[in-house]
Amino acid sequence: MSLRKLIATARALRELGFDEVYITEDITEEKREEPVKEEKEDKAELLRKLYQQMEEERKCILYEGASGYVFGEGDPNSPVVFVGEAPGEEEDKLKRPFVGRAGQYLNIKLEQVGLKREKVYITNVVKSRPPGNRTPTREEMMTCLPYLRKEIEIIKPKLLVCLGSTAMKGILGKEYPITKYRGQIFPYPYNPSIKVFLTYHPAYVLRNPSADKEFTEDLKKVVQLISQA
Ligand code: URA
Repeated sequence: MSLRKLIATARALRELGFDEVYITEDITEEKREEPVKEEKEDKAELLRKLYQQMEEERKCILYEGASGYVFGEGDPNSPVVFVGEAPGEEEDKLKRPFVGRAGQYLNIKLEQVGLKREKVYITNVVKSRPPGNRTPTREEMMTCLPYLRKEIEIIKPKLLVCLGSTAMKGILGKEYPITKYRGQIFPYPYNPSIKVFLTYHPAYVLRNPSADKEFTEDLKKVVQLISQA
């Protein structure tokens, strides 16, 4: 109900002899706008609580050998979440995802397609650095996956972008040959309204510069997908 209608209703009630009217719920337009704002604030708060919970539970293994957990970062209201494998040395030091060489390259590529790093959300399947940067084992992934799933549940993005095959395995529970399936879309098994998009890991593209063209094409497709209603 608009404020004008509310005032007119109150006047009509007064004319009918009512001195007081008790309103038990917010019915003005101004008030009704508030929950949207609250929800935006909530996502950041829920993510903060999830990080705290992960730190307290220490269920995501590998914690001992690393300097701690590296949680996701970025805009919790982003329509897209980029998911990598696990923190590397630099990420472990700075406790931030994708800040080493692969991360710097990813930043450049995001900018090239008009995405700002701080406007997207970036995270990893495994939340602490595997020794010697090796690929995380299945068990290591399994212990961290509940936290990633919760992160995704809180953010509810339109699109999840798997950067490489470890992310794909974690998100889809299955590995597809990345060179064959990159650029393709799958439903997210835990919420089919979220699309899953596969592309290369930026570290792979750094090692194989000929993949850069396809990586750029994929990121352009990501922009298209998140711009669709
Ligand atoms: N590689 C990843 O998969 N994640 C990072 O955070 C850094 C490098």
